[in-house]
Amino acid sequence: MSRYPDVLLHIDGHWRPGRTEATLPVHDPASGEAIGRVAMAEREDLDDALAAAARGFETWRRIPAVERAKTMREAARLLRERAEGIARLLTQENGKPLAEALAEVRFGAEIIEWFAEEGTRVSGRIVAPRGAGQMAHVLKEPVGPVAAFTPWNFPINQLVRKLCGALATGCSIIAKAPEETPASPAELVRAFADAGLPPGVLGLVYGRPEAISAYLIPHPVIRKLTFTGSTPVGKQLAALAGAHMKRATMELGGHAPVIVAEDCDVDRAARIAAGAKFRNAGQVCISPTRFLVANAVRERFVARFAEATLALQVGPGLDAGTTMGPLANPRRLAALQALTADAVERGATLVAGGQRIGSAGNFFAPTVLDNVPRDCRVFNEEPFGPVAAVQGFDVLDDAIAEANRLPYGLAAYAFTNSLRTVHELSQRLEVGMLWINQPAPAWPELPFGGVKDSGHGSEGGAEALESYLHTKSVSTLVL
Ligand code: NAD
Repeated sequence: MSRYPDVLLHIDGHWRPGRTEATLPVHDPASGEAIGRVAMAEREDLDDALAAAARGFETWRRIPAVERAKTMREAARLLRERAEGIARLLTQENGKPLAEALAEVRFGAEIIEWFAEEGTRVSGRIVAPRGAGQMAHVLKEPVGPVAAFTPWNFPINQLVRKLCGALATGCSIIAKAPEETPASPAELVRAFADAGLPPGVLGLVYGRPEAISAYLIPHPVIRKLTFTGSTPVGKQLAALAGAHMKRATMELGGHAPVIVAEDCDVDRAARIAAGAKFRNAGQVCISPTRFLVANAVRERFVARFAEATLALQVGPGLDAGTTMGPLANPRRLAALQALTADAVERGATLVAGGQRIGSAGNFFAPTVLDNVPRDCRVFNEEPFGPVAAVQGFDVLDDAIAEANRLPYGLAAYAFTNSLRTVHELSQRLEVGMLWINQPAPAWPELPFGGVKDSGHGSEGGAEALESYLHTKSVSTLVL
């Protein structure tokens, strides 16, 4: 499966082009060359997908959760069996090293299995009645057909969580997957289709994102929106969902602080933090970004972090030995160049990287900036790329204030051996996720989501299923 395919829509159980047969090109970020095409859905295709999702919902919600779980587990098995071929497609379209792509696909299978099991544990409750002859039940019901919008940075991982939340609870779903990286999400959908998912339960479309969201979100068939992407787009879509009283889960941008306390194992912290920073070339919503390092250990931390940075092998993701690939698209390249130049102009020290590599493909050198003034763009805007920005602190209170200063509230990291510091940070950091002394193990059983401008709702843990369920109370007087 290493030849990059032309990617089709999946509507009502069929793989097909859009009715107008319009397509968009797909590019390899390592070379800039066009490698394939993806079908575009227009209004009539969306109408087909909506009608199918309405029928699919009526079928799927009636299938017992244990039977739904069997289909999901079979999809996980197929995904694992096909993982190597799918990972190659993912690397070709997104650029990440093959090992990272393979891990993403395999972890996708684990996510499916966890959600399949968790779906069998959805239950309501019986409430103690207030009068003789009364019965009171609380029921949990699937919300209905879902519209999902997923981005290009983790084409499998971002989609699989949304599919699983919907499918495990009995909802149908129409996914608008990323046009820039369409083949790997299509293979994820194929695993479900081949596992025997009934037609209409899972639709897949691509096209013009703003036209598709503007049509699907207000449509009466759709009962819930789930979106992963930037904060500005998320706010627009959440407003549209609100205007039509649709449930919404918003997984948006972040600007993760990393607090490195004086009492930590500095060398270990630098090694772990650098690994986390440059995964997927930093194009990760939870990527560590603002490094707030105790001044007593800052010099050593920066030196070790720079060593780990300079040891990275930047190259095409399919090449053996590559540990960081190109950026996924030329937009990120331009953004990274501008953010780094701004920081240096305002007085930051460039410790490593800072420029584009070569002239073909979107390669940007992994970059470390020290002494970064607080007003630099990189300390305020989500860089979504391979840049670590370091600033010192003397007292923990200052680091906490800086961590909470931005409107984002997705993830934070800390390195410390003090239980007191762990306690302070867990109580006071305004984030949805905090990882201490480790990179981010995004286990499916843990809630995944943010607060403030990073969105609301969760894509992991029992909370992820809750957001696809309505609560209904039924009170009966037995005559
Ligand atoms: P962008 O804001 O143009 O797009 C982000 C995503 O939203 C893309 O997948 C895009 O297809 C989709 N999108 C855009 N407008 C839409 C609309 N009106 N309706 C539905 N979907 C729409 O940004 P970009 O240049 O593709 O990505 C860079 C920024 O996006 C980053 O700075 C980061 O904040 C954010 N981003 C976040 C995540 C995440 O995991 N939270 C993932 C990818 C991108």
